[in-house]
Amino acid sequence: MKDLKKFLAILISTLLVLSMAGCSSPTDNKQPELPEETPAVEQTGMKPGKYTAAFRGYKSDVKVETEVDSEKIISVKVVEHKETDGIGTHAVDRLPKSIVDNQSVKVDTISGATTTSYAIINAVTDALKQSGADMKKFELGPSTPTPKDVTLDTDIVVIGAGAAGLSAALEARRNGAEVIVVEKMDITGGNTIRSSGAFNVAGHKLQIEADKGRKDVEDFIKFTMTGGHDMNDPDLVRYMIENSAGIVDWITEVGFEARIGETYQSFTVPGYAPGLIIGLQEYFEEQGGTVMLSTKATEIILKDGSAAGIIAEGADGGKVTINADAVIIAAGGYGANLDWIAELDPNLKGFVTNNHPGATGDGIVMAQAVGAAVRDLNEIQTHPTVHVPTATMMTEGCRNAGGILVNTSGKRFTNEVNYRDIVSEAILSQDQGFAYLIINQEIVDSNGNIQGYYDIGVLQKFDTIADLAKFMSVEENVLQETMDKWNKAVAEENDPEFESKFSWIRDLSVGPWYSVAVSPGIHHTMGGIVINTNAEVISTEGQVIPGLFACGEVTGGVHGGNRVGGNAILDCLVFGKTAGEKSASYVNK
Ligand code: ADP
Repeated sequence: MKDLKKFLAILISTLLVLSMAGCSSPTDNKQPELPEETPAVEQTGMKPGKYTAAFRGYKSDVKVETEVDSEKIISVKVVEHKETDGIGTHAVDRLPKSIVDNQSVKVDTISGATTTSYAIINAVTDALKQSGADMKKFELGPSTPTPKDVTLDTDIVVIGAGAAGLSAALEARRNGAEVIVVEKMDITGGNTIRSSGAFNVAGHKLQIEADKGRKDVEDFIKFTMTGGHDMNDPDLVRYMIENSAGIVDWITEVGFEARIGETYQSFTVPGYAPGLIIGLQEYFEEQGGTVMLSTKATEIILKDGSAAGIIAEGADGGKVTINADAVIIAAGGYGANLDWIAELDPNLKGFVTNNHPGATGDGIVMAQAVGAAVRDLNEIQTHPTVHVPTATMMTEGCRNAGGILVNTSGKRFTNEVNYRDIVSEAILSQDQGFAYLIINQEIVDSNGNIQGYYDIGVLQKFDTIADLAKFMSVEENVLQETMDKWNKAVAEENDPEFESKFSWIRDLSVGPWYSVAVSPGIHHTMGGIVINTNAEVISTEGQVIPGLFACGEVTGGVHGGNRVGGNAILDCLVFGKTAGEKSASYVNK
């Protein structure tokens, strides 16, 4: 301001001199008074006011209201959006403040929620431009914090905040332990929050009362073992399935309303996977547990052969040392580590992955560094129905509820509800290696996850079979014949062509119909750390490593060579709860 006044004073006196010399210039000889406040226009060109702009996020348009005065951004508010709970909502909650605090649109995006982050940033940029702002002023990067090293002490430290880590943390806390969870991303939820959130259960009283779904524990053990090519650790499978009905009651006990799912074989909680993650985290934090985001574990501390804590990289880049009496590794799988996957199974080179970017296998590497045994690392599952351009997985629920797969000739070619590896193989062997998934309005209405695929523009909607056939580039009469055959099979509960066995499926006689082209994508990594039924980590010498526990996708053996759909969350919940309980009794000893 001072400099500007000085500049104006010099300018005016120069003009006065010029005017006295007879040049054409202002003729007023009086020295004008300098204004107290320089007009806004001369400072930034910003016109004070509220400006709105909307940009496409992941699921919806994100409408943002930005208020500015002549110099700065006063407030940023997301006024409308339908982004995913527990993912995009974190960007909605945190980015506006970060933009205002930093007076910049060059703020860090929220890892795991980048699409929503960019929608907000673009909307604020648009608003600033509408106000006439000089964008250079608002594009300075945020100042980098000075890294600080910290040391913390706790009873139990958990690596990873997916379903396994949060279940373990909650149960350990319920058993009286002090617990810290470290999560390397800016948000919790990992692969879990991107899943359907459904978990298989066998023999729960609700299933028996309804006389539907998986009533028999032994049958389901057999189904899981066969699905895993009998490569599974039978003790882990038996333990998981024998505890599946009990986990429904545990879920209810910790605060959820667990409900029987669409097909009676699986259960869900309200809000599906986001509901599960948000709930587990809230219950854990309400009971005094701590979640440290943006904190990446890099090393497990071993003292005299027992786990004694971890070293991590903190949010500010500083070293975080957490001393603990027990460590639970729940860092998930390696489905996003595409180089490693191509090395482990060259057939999968070039496949897309629907995994979250944090699924890089860190937990396995850290465990191996302290002598843990690992198994089945080259057992990597593709999910059969992935929309490749967006890497969106179309949940099994689509097919379990009666959706069909049709090839480019307009015909079905497989039992849609067979094991994932078999369906993936069948799709890959079709012309061009892809198929169309077809469902109808009734199926879309039955499941919030499926509605979400339409919201994000992945599923296309058709009022007539003719339009659907056109979309698929197949003959209308051929497609109509396929649909008729299927509807008859459902009515008669007999599918002579492919022996689809689910008798409670819906037919597809009534539209509108929905479709999407699908192909297999990398989905789940079955290999990982060797554990026993106490979720204790086993060393390469076959001994328990004291104080070291693991649960969830980071472990190997539960799913053998192929995971059954709906068994991942069950695995996380059962072994997460067990890891929490066993680690708490270990530290209490
Ligand atoms: P699970 O289904 O077994 O719970 P998820 O993928 O849902 O697995 O969750 C695992 C979580 O662990 C993810 O949120 C991931 O970001 C986190 N994670 C992975 N590696 C690390 C690490 N080195 N430090 C902290 N958290 C990690």
